[in-house]
Amino acid sequence: MDTAMLIGSRFEAGTETEEHILNPKTGETVLDLPEASLGQIDAAVDAAEAAFKHWSQTTPGERSSYLLKIADAIEKDAAGFAALEALNCGKPINAVLNDEIPAIVDCYRFFAGAVRNLHGPVAGEYLPGHTSMIRRDAVGIVGSIAPWNYPLMMMAWKLAPAIAGGNTVVFKPSEQTPLTALKMAKLLSAILPEGVVNVILGRGESVGNALINHPKISMLSITGDVATGKKVLQAAAKTVKRTHLELGGKAPVIIFDDADIDAVVSGIRTFGYYNAGQDCTAACRIYADAKVYDKFVADLSSAVSSIKFNQADDTENEIGPLISKRQRDRVESFVARAGEHKHMEITTGGKTSGDKGFFYTPTVIAGATQEDEIVRREVFGPVVSVTRFTDVENAVTWANDSDYGLASSVWTKDISRGMKTAARLQYGCTWINTHFMLTNEMPHGGLKQSGYGKDMSVYALEDYTAVRHVMINHG
Ligand code: NAD
Repeated sequence: MDTAMLIGSRFEAGTETEEHILNPKTGETVLDLPEASLGQIDAAVDAAEAAFKHWSQTTPGERSSYLLKIADAIEKDAAGFAALEALNCGKPINAVLNDEIPAIVDCYRFFAGAVRNLHGPVAGEYLPGHTSMIRRDAVGIVGSIAPWNYPLMMMAWKLAPAIAGGNTVVFKPSEQTPLTALKMAKLLSAILPEGVVNVILGRGESVGNALINHPKISMLSITGDVATGKKVLQAAAKTVKRTHLELGGKAPVIIFDDADIDAVVSGIRTFGYYNAGQDCTAACRIYADAKVYDKFVADLSSAVSSIKFNQADDTENEIGPLISKRQRDRVESFVARAGEHKHMEITTGGKTSGDKGFFYTPTVIAGATQEDEIVRREVFGPVVSVTRFTDVENAVTWANDSDYGLASSVWTKDISRGMKTAARLQYGCTWINTHFMLTNEMPHGGLKQSGYGKDMSVYALEDYTAVRHVMINHG
């Protein structure tokens, strides 16, 4: 197992406080990893600064060929990456191998192509005797900070557009899930020039805090909690760093009376509980028309009670445990507080599972109302609430009545109704008759307190590059 951080071309262990890296399926420690010192953080930034001089001047074609090599190398070692991600996150091996790794490989390949195809306004003489042109150049050193729910995928979403755009990066994985980032560090150092990507370890309040306050860093990219995003903004304000924020979500799902209920139930069973609900786009906040509400709740509860988890044969598992005891306790306390209210009913789940690891039973809470905590706050666990509506206007108003604005979905056979509703939803993404489906050609990112950074797609490449105007006076 790779355990060393990557600073320039050097592999080094951190010298500060050790973090226990756990297996969430058992709760046991896999290994202890010390975090970076302030000197090591400075060294990583210095290495990125030195690399920037050359890397930012390479051609899109050159950078593209590096990205393609990274994609090929991950694909070649897919089983190794998947096993490590499954170990560190508790994910079912098939989910990582069949869902995540192909999307990760495709992310590097997409940006390899996209960076060679950037478009913009035409060069021309907008003042007589002067020719203007638009350039898209690298921003500088990017400080990238990732969460624990999809460690390798978040790393891909952050690294691929950043280095495609000619930036250099100091990357910090979540202190809870650094193992695949360390394996990537080994892979990247064998492919990329020294210092283009540096990987350092540590907790948010120590290493993360030092990174976001580092004077030499030009851009901060973070996926994480809203509270963390606000700290990033405060730090960025000191030296006016560019920011790219991907924060939480509380995705509303509107089910109209004409929806195909079997399709909705099957969709929510998958998209509400994937990755044990530890997903910022999870279909967790359902608004169902009163005409279909009872059938939907009954069918969903039955379907959710059949979700397979904590099976000895991992290939049978559909979801894994939560990432930590702390996260499971958090989920448990949300459900317990909901259960104290008479108008809500826990129709399936509602309890922890197993005597080891951090498992929680997939849960449906029916009868929730707009004011309830379970409807308003991000649980980040396998818990879906269902709220009844009789007036479509209420459903749309309630769906938009949230601090978050990342993802949403509408389920109806009437495509006109679906399109009209989608246009009124204040979310970065609205799916019609599906949920959660992502593709590297399309952007992922939010509105409101979900942040404004776009991952994937050419919009990410725009976020990670600066628009510049060059004008020639030729008389
Ligand atoms: P978190 O904010 O606690 O941690 C995310 C990262 O930020 C970690 O690497 C952590 O070490 C770092 N961090 C924490 N405090 C910091 C500080 N003061 N300064 C600098 N860095 C700091 O979030 P988490 O618990 O790891 O992840 C779950 C959250 O991420 C959820 O809210 C979820 O919705 C969100 N998320 C959002 C998206 C998206 O695309 N919008 C995707 C995945 C996860």
